[in-house]
Amino acid sequence: MSEQNESQARQDLWGTRMEREQERPRSISRRGLLIGGAGAATVMGAAGYAGWDGLRRWWWRAAGSERPRTDGVVDHAGAEWVGASSANWRRAQRPSDYAVDLVVIHVVQGSYGDALRVFRDPLHKAAAHYVVRQDGHIAQTVRELDVAFHCGNREFNERSVGIEHEGHVDRPEGFTDAMYAASARLTAGICTRYAIPADRAHIIAHSEVPGTDHTDPGPHWDWNRYLGLVRAATTLAR
Ligand SMILES: [Zn+2]
Repeated sequence: MSEQNESQARQDLWGTRMEREQERPRSISRRGLLIGGAGAATVMGAAGYAGWDGLRRWWWRAAGSERPRTDGVVDHAGAEWVGASSANWRRAQRPSDYAVDLVVIHVVQGSYGDALRVFRDPLHKAAAHYVVRQDGHIAQTVRELDVAFHCGNREFNERSVGIEHEGHVDRPEGFTDAMYAASARLTAGICTRYAIPADRAHIIAHSEVPGTDHTDPGPHWDWNRYLGLVRAATTLAR
């Protein structure tokens, strides 16, 4: 299939099409089996987050406290709003309806422009919340209130903010200083907004999402460096 050939070059952009399957009733398929495995894993994982029930007491999580939406408004200062097609995310009222306790790091397997183009395509059925360009410019494509279809696992989508990074998993030279720095400031802001610990249990790779067959951001993503930058930016934000 030509779609499969394309997927080899652009695994991440293609792979997010898994989401379309996730939002449908489960079918008997290899993908269905992967999803089943993910369910078992997340039941175990949920116990680790029990302490975060404290978040439910936050005033803005009270029933009926729907937050206002204005076209073009962004959640991260300085981000450019480039809205994704509404087919690629689901309207929600996070964190009132779903607690947000994860940031998922992706690499596009393509350019910044490629990501924005497919996120605007209603047939793609997937989008992340943000796309970070190699020069550090950031586009917000889905509001953090809403559930973006970015990691191929419905529960993880509901509880996470997804960040795509321009580039390829096997080209570490594309992970520029400017991109790491800008992305770390973005993640620090997300951690501050939702009281998410800035650690590897809460800032995860797409490849670590249960049930995924994705490899991004891959072995060349410098987690020590990235977390150090996030923690430094989180301290500054407080
Ligand atoms: Zn990904």
